[in-house]
Amino acid sequence: MSDCIFCKIIAGEIPSAKFYEDEDILIIADINPQAAKHYLMMPKKHYTDIADMAEKDPEALGNIFKKLSGLISELGLDGGFRIVSNKGENGCQSVGHLHIHVLGGEKLNEKMG
Ligand code: 5GP
Ligand code: ZN
Repeated sequence: MSDCIFCKIIAGEIPSAKFYEDEDILIIADINPQAAKHYLMMPKKHYTDIADMAEKDPEALGNIFKKLSGLISELGLDGGFRIVSNKGENGCQSVGHLHIHVLGGEKLNEKMG
């Protein structure tokens, strides 16, 4: 996807603060953090949103969460974290390449909306 900002980050064409990378996924810092720690986990393959990937490759989607489980301490998330993945207009998704927000590093607000 030549016009996708996250595909460009994955390709190294746009710089990012990378915390984890393998052949399938990338974890970077969000450029506009909403918590003490705010990561974006994304598959390298372009899916528009979480429903798109769940439909096309549910096993790979599950593997993203398995990898996160193995990285909790490394990411400074031992105290807990919150996962959010916005989809579509009502979800206020602003980048059309699936990404999963991982927020933590402090006590978060009880309300999410
Ligand atoms: P969404 O609104 O689609 O759920 O989340 C998009 C997220 O991507 C936002 O939290 C925004 O701060 C982040 N973001 C947008 N552009 C960039 C960028 O170029 N680099 C990084 N690291 N994050 C970005
Ligand atoms: Zn993309």
